This record gives sequence, structure tokens and C-alpha cells, in this order.
Amino acid sequence: MAYQVTFIDGDGIGPEIAAITRQCIDATGVDIEWDIQQAGSEVYESEGTPLPDRTLDSIRRTGTAIKAPVTTPVGTGFRSVNVALRQKLDLYACLRPCKSYPGVRSRYQDIDLVVVRENTEDLYAGIEFEQGTPEAGRAIETIAELTGKTIRSDSGISVKPNSIYASERIVRFAFEYARANNRRKVTAVHKANILKFSDGLFLDVSRRVARDYPDIEYEDRIVDNMCMQLVQKPELYDVLVLPNLYGDILSDLGAGLVGGLGVAPGGNIGDEIAVFEATHGSAPKYKGLNKVNPTALILSGVLLLRHLGESAPSDRLERAVAAVIAEGKNVTYDLKPERDDPTAVGSTEMGDAIVAAIEAANS
Ligand code: NAD
Repeated sequence: MAYQVTFIDGDGIGPEIAAITRQCIDATGVDIEWDIQQAGSEVYESEGTPLPDRTLDSIRRTGTAIKAPVTTPVGTGFRSVNVALRQKLDLYACLRPCKSYPGVRSRYQDIDLVVVRENTEDLYAGIEFEQGTPEAGRAIETIAELTGKTIRSDSGISVKPNSIYASERIVRFAFEYARANNRRKVTAVHKANILKFSDGLFLDVSRRVARDYPDIEYEDRIVDNMCMQLVQKPELYDVLVLPNLYGDILSDLGAGLVGGLGVAPGGNIGDEIAVFEATHGSAPKYKGLNKVNPTALILSGVLLLRHLGESAPSDRLERAVAAVIAEGKNVTYDLKPERDDPTAVGSTEMGDAIVAAIEAANS
């Protein structure tokens, strides 16, 4: 029976790379019935919401989705679709594999890291007090009463909650991912030496959960040291698990280690639902130009196939992408040595080359 999967086409460059990604996934031979849905600025203009209920209903029904980038316009009432999806569907884990592919220009080779970021709390919980408001004044008074510490009256305040519940489920997610994907080690990243009660809690929970997974090595690192180590000796690390803010920052550090956003896939995953997506945005200036690199969304399709349990087709698709990039012929401008290289091909032509490579591997 065919898998039911929701595909959100997005806007900007989204629909172009979405169509190419569907072709590449279909070429693996896995039988998927796509339910194509919309989100983002274009549907906002026609329907008054960037995330229609039918899109959410589709994801809840299929349980698995892949999403092309969507624009979050600055200065409108339009909330980020990405944040709304994470919150409404409780997608508490952000998965970002950072892997080197020969042919992608980068300072490093042979990187194979996975960043697992907690998606729901920490400094991103959205609990803030704006400087100068009565609420900020009351928060400052209450904190003085409770702690004896003075906060300057002209301060803005953001609250950082880390719970046992959310820390435990993200650390368990990292260990389960490590086990299912034959990874050897999980490193928990924190700043517990300073933030004793928020990151300290995350660290205590990590150490406790690690005892349930004796088959996987465990270690922890302070976040500043972790950044230095990742730049100096990234090969020492395997799966990293982090609270929200450090996870956000180190995910981009990881993408930088392997050559940037054009090749960085990702997924936002909960207990019932998974939504895969490229790390990059909708690059509106390239809309309709058949120019951008479709790799990140296609590699998100590799993660999707693996999530469905289709390991062999997933590996075939990844190998096809890797082969086209390694050959360096049918690739977009950003994968050429010079950005104005006249031999660069369009997104569609790169997609066609990947489809041809999969079909050759299938036969
Ligand atoms: P962006 O990632 O869209 O683009 C930044 C630059 O990166 C582009 O100008 C382009 O030079 C390059 N780039 C991005 N993707 C590329 C690709 N596939 N191939 C080649 N080059 C590529 O970031 P931005 O300009 O900051 O954001 C544009 C919009 O996207 C904003 O509205 C932002 O909110 C949104 N956004 C969406 C997502 C998402 O849907 N997951 C993620 C990030 C940003």
C-alpha cells in the first residue's frame, strides 16, 4: 500500500525545488501518494492565513510531511509558519545531520555529525518582558524579593525554562536516534557551570538517561568549549544533543562545517508526526529563476525515506545526490569553483541528473 505523505510546496524558490524533490523521491520506486498542500505568503494573500487548517489536517492525517521553505515577512501580523508547525504539532526534536559530500567546497572533509536540538522551551519559550513596561517592573520587583538581587530598571527580560519533561524526551530521542542509526556516541552540550538550575537540570537528566543506553557512549561538554572543539577536531563528535538556543547556534555551525545551507537537510520530529525540511529559507530573489541548489530539500527527502523505514531506497537517493555533486558537472552555480561559472546548470537539470543516477542504480 502506498505511503501517504504531505508535501508543502512553500513559496519563493519553494515550489521549484519541491517539484524536483518529488521527482527524485519517486525515482527511488517507493510508492508514495503525495498530498500537496500550501503554506506561506502566497496562500496568506489568497486565504488570509499562512497556515490553512487543511494543511495542518493533512499532516495530522498522514503523520509525515516534507516542507519546502516559506517566507516569514517582517513587520506583518504573520507568525512564522515554521514556529507554528512546531508548536501545534509538538515537534519537539530538531534533527540536523551535517555530513561532508566530496565536491562541496568546505574547509573540512569527512564530517559526519548529527545535531539534535530541543525545540519547545529554553530562551525560545517566548516569555519576555519589554523594557519599561509595568510587567517588566513587576518582574524586576518580584525577582528582587525572591533572590535579593537587583536588576537595572531599564532592562528587558527573557525567561529560560528547562523542564525535566522536555529535557528527558529530547535526550531519549538522541539516544534512540543513535541506536537506530548505528551511531556510537551522544554528547550533551550545556552551560551548567553558570546556569546551574536550567542547564544544570538538563545535564543531570542527560547523565541519568545515558545510564539506560549502555551500548552508546556518553559524554558532556560546556557549550563554549564545544564550539572550539567542533572547529578544531569535529571528527571526535557524533550525535550532539542540546537545549534550544545552543542547538540553534550549533546547527548553523555544523552546516558551515560541511559547506553551508545549500546542502543542509533537517527534520522537526515529535512522537506522532515528523516534518522534514531544508535548513535554508525561500531565497525570494531567486524565485522562478531555476537557479538554486535543490540538494538540501532532496537530502531532507533522504531523511523522510529513512523515517518511513525505507533504508535501501533512502541510501540509493543519497548516493545519487553524492555522485552528481562529486562529478561536479550537472550542478548549480553554488557548487562550482566560481559562482559565475558558465557551465553551472539550473535546479531542474541538476534534479534530472540525480534522477538519472537513481535510475541507473535501480536497474
Ligand atoms: P535564505 O536561506 O532564503 O537565503 C539566503 C541566501 O542563501 C540566498 O540569497 C542565497 O544566496 C542563498 N541560498 C539559500 N538557499 C539556497 C539554495 N538552495 N541554493 C543556493 N543558494 C541558496 O535566507 P533569508 O534570505 O534570510 O530568508 C528568506 C526568507 O526565508 C525569510 O522570509 C525567512 O524568514 C525565510 N526562512 C524560511 C525558512 C524555512 O522555511 N524553513 C528557513 C529560513 C528562512
